[in-house]
Amino acid sequence: MCPVSLTVPEAGSSTHHRHDRGEISRHMEPVLLLNTSFEPLRVINWKRALTLVFAGKVEVVEEYTREVHSVSLVVRLPAVVRLLTLIRVRGSGVKFSRQNIYARDNYECQYCGYQPPVSELTYDHIIPRAHGGPTDWTNIVTCCITCNRRKGGKSLEQSGLRLRHSPKKPTWQPYVTTALGMRNPPESWRDYLAWHAGPKSEEAFSSHPPS
Ligand SMILES: [Zn+2]
Repeated sequence: MCPVSLTVPEAGSSTHHRHDRGEISRHMEPVLLLNTSFEPLRVINWKRALTLVFAGKVEVVEEYTREVHSVSLVVRLPAVVRLLTLIRVRGSGVKFSRQNIYARDNYECQYCGYQPPVSELTYDHIIPRAHGGPTDWTNIVTCCITCNRRKGGKSLEQSGLRLRHSPKKPTWQPYVTTALGMRNPPESWRDYLAWHAGPKSEEAFSSHPPS
């Protein structure tokens, strides 16, 4: 429970229907909780985040511009908080699931690069199942409906399609973005989610040469 009574002041009413475009969507004031090691752990709400702040369990590393007021105190809403005591995360692997495939592929068709609404995403077996293609990280990619039809049961060569990235098992935890169904997490989270992708994962890959 929050130790103090806090409210988010807004001009006018309907606080709950207000959206800070691009920053806050769907859920009110989501806060990214990081491990001591800066690894994203989960998304919590701002009340929970402030409770952790006041309890001395976390430090605030990023803030929203919006403030919360109590009788005696004004604080900016935390956007990213970091645990002061390391939590050991169980399990090393990322769960193989459709949602995590989408997250790995940045919700983009891996053949044409189109980013349809999430509800219109599908996935494709690069080597068709009928040709013995496995259902795993390296043979499944996010796909738009058009490319999925074009690919059908054909091999990559037969289909004339090209992969934009060669799929591999991710080393990150995609839980954070998928938890909110967020395609675009708040801007202030970017630096802390960035380690998931890009050069870091290539580094990780090149430090483990294929056997
Ligand atoms: Zn496509």
